[in-house]
Amino acid sequence: MPELPEVETIARGLAKRVTGDVVESVWLGQKKEPLKSPAPEIAAALEHSRITAVRRMGKHIVFDLERNRTTQAAASRSRGRAGGRVRRIDSAPVQWIVHLGMTGRLQVSEPKAEVEKHTHAILHLASGRELRFVDPRRFGRLSVAAGFATSGIEPLEIDLERFVDLFRGRKTPIKSALLNQKLLRGVGNIYADESLFRAGIRPRRRASTITWEQFARLLPAIQEVLREAIALGGSSISDYVDADGEEGFFQLQHRVYGREGEPCRVCKTPIKRVVIAGRSSHYCPRCQK
Ligand SMILES: [Zn+2]
Repeated sequence: MPELPEVETIARGLAKRVTGDVVESVWLGQKKEPLKSPAPEIAAALEHSRITAVRRMGKHIVFDLERNRTTQAAASRSRGRAGGRVRRIDSAPVQWIVHLGMTGRLQVSEPKAEVEKHTHAILHLASGRELRFVDPRRFGRLSVAAGFATSGIEPLEIDLERFVDLFRGRKTPIKSALLNQKLLRGVGNIYADESLFRAGIRPRRRASTITWEQFARLLPAIQEVLREAIALGGSSISDYVDADGEEGFFQLQHRVYGREGEPCRVCKTPIKRVVIAGRSSHYCPRCQK
């Protein structure tokens, strides 16, 4: 599952490659699962649109689209001759939203590059390249919207007071609360474990028992872990590729995640693993209270 740093890395890579390009036409596959919006709506929003920005919102990749007037006008003119009516140019801001799910990838490809199995969408760009969405397990989702918004607050933007307000009084384990996307968006399993280790807090601790001082360590720990991972290009341990189709991710040196039984990097105590709300949680029983 790509987490915030991976999605950020992918969005940045795509922004460099496709911002300013125009989508000339769209091919969508037959499989229904990847299409969260109806295929004709996705195609209508994308075709003849200029990509003005690519950014991450939570774990979504959002492409801001703007009707390309010249392409649109040309299309309208040719249609206009037959139908006698010029199509309305819709200038409402539209967004194409991609959620990568478990195994989704966005690739910028040359048209002659072989189309991989499990390709569900191909955007033909005016630059001659193609933007392809490939997803073997089909948990990824493509949709279009105007004014897309996600729930939760960006962990890299929240201040301490709001952060404490989000969690204080919750009886759930802090680990579950960190994974709750309605509170903070985009903090996943690996980064939650790593942040709790750095802050010295056990994952099972009820959020309501955490002191202000501990929250004051936890928030910078979360931000530090995410920023380090973004700087490294994400730390996914799965088979993600970056926007070029190259292996793009370096492994953040995990201090606890995936290290069950191995010595703590600080105190040498073996790292423990427990399951909280169905997710593996790793911690040092000595460094974390
Ligand atoms: Zn330790």
